[in-house]
Amino acid sequence: MKKIGVYNKSLNGLRGDKKLFKALSRICLCRAGESLKNYCTIKIGGRAKFVCLPKNVKQVRRLIAFLNLKKIKYYVVGNGSNIVFNDDGFSGVIICLKKLNKVSVRKKGFGKVIALGGANLFAIHSLCARLGFGGFEFAYGIPASVGGALCMNAGAFGGEMAKVVSRAWVLCGKKIRVFNVSKMGLDYRHSNFLNKKDIILKVEFKFFKQSSSKIKQLQQEYFNKRILSQPHGMPSAGSVFKRAGEGAGKIIDKMGLKGVTIGDIQISPKHANFFVNLGNATSKDLSLAISLAKKQAYEREGVCLQEEIIFVGD
Ligand SMILES: Cc1cc2nc3c(=O)[nH]c(=O)nc-3n(C[C@H](O)[C@H](O)[C@H](O)COP(=O)(O)OP(=O)(O)OC[C@H]3O[C@@H](n4cnc5c(N)ncnc54)[C@H](O)[C@@H]3O)c2cc1C
Repeated sequence: MKKIGVYNKSLNGLRGDKKLFKALSRICLCRAGESLKNYCTIKIGGRAKFVCLPKNVKQVRRLIAFLNLKKIKYYVVGNGSNIVFNDDGFSGVIICLKKLNKVSVRKKGFGKVIALGGANLFAIHSLCARLGFGGFEFAYGIPASVGGALCMNAGAFGGEMAKVVSRAWVLCGKKIRVFNVSKMGLDYRHSNFLNKKDIILKVEFKFFKQSSSKIKQLQQEYFNKRILSQPHGMPSAGSVFKRAGEGAGKIIDKMGLKGVTIGDIQISPKHANFFVNLGNATSKDLSLAISLAKKQAYEREGVCLQEEIIFVGD
């Protein structure tokens, strides 16, 4: 028999949910009691009651219909590179879209790429380099899924998702609605999809003609810049704070907080707007480090730092 669910019987408190687990497993791959550290790049978090991993649009629709019918809370995760799970975990369903990852090229018109919401941006970068589709190099090195990147309007080096996306297919309740880029409310690290229950299923990109060698050169350039300025290879959630004043990183640095450690969270000595997990950091450690930076920035520089990263919990 095909095994589609992983149920850890030894986990206390989950026995009563066996029926629910079975129902979810009939819809898509489901895991019970998993550590949420495995679903975010900063590697922090307690356990989720359930993590569901749909692999196609049909499974996503069935899952959402079921969860709404049963009034079960859920949270959608792409690559988890902008979120932090609470130490207490999540008592509902985490929907991880990593398996919804198909990427294809539209036959009509040059440079049109269609990617499902959970596809990793790296899959698009390699396709662009191979086919000579230019314009997406700015995002090289952002460890995001397509849906997460659109939701946050991810950007770097003067580029942003708003400049390369043309349309998106979004599950709003039971209906799939198509949004043109002008109707997505894309702004600095913001979209109309953020903090909603809507799910970005599919995104259409429009790129321009560019030589493969130029694309690869730009990708490498941007990647090198990241390696030089950011704590590459350390678990983090990217920039902790949004753009502010002369730069959140510069302000935190000016206050002498680079290298400061709270529990296992360290304000990176390389880039003060990156807070890294030294091993066993908790969301509490991270919250304390954030509070410290915010308090000092306000009291000493008069700047209100605003979190870019999102805490996820009950
Ligand atoms: C090393 C590092 C470097 C980074 N550099 C940059 C950078 O240069 N520029 C930048 O902008 N960001 C950067 N980030 C932050 C992060 O990569 C971006 O915010 C990215 O857009 C998040 O994508 P994700 O798939 O990981 O989303 P997640 O972190 O999984 O989710 C982010 C938000 O999007 C929602 N979401 C995710 N997928 C969907 C979907 N399909 N439908 C609806 N909602 C969805 C989630 O519910 C959540 O609210 C960096 C992060 C790291 C760790």
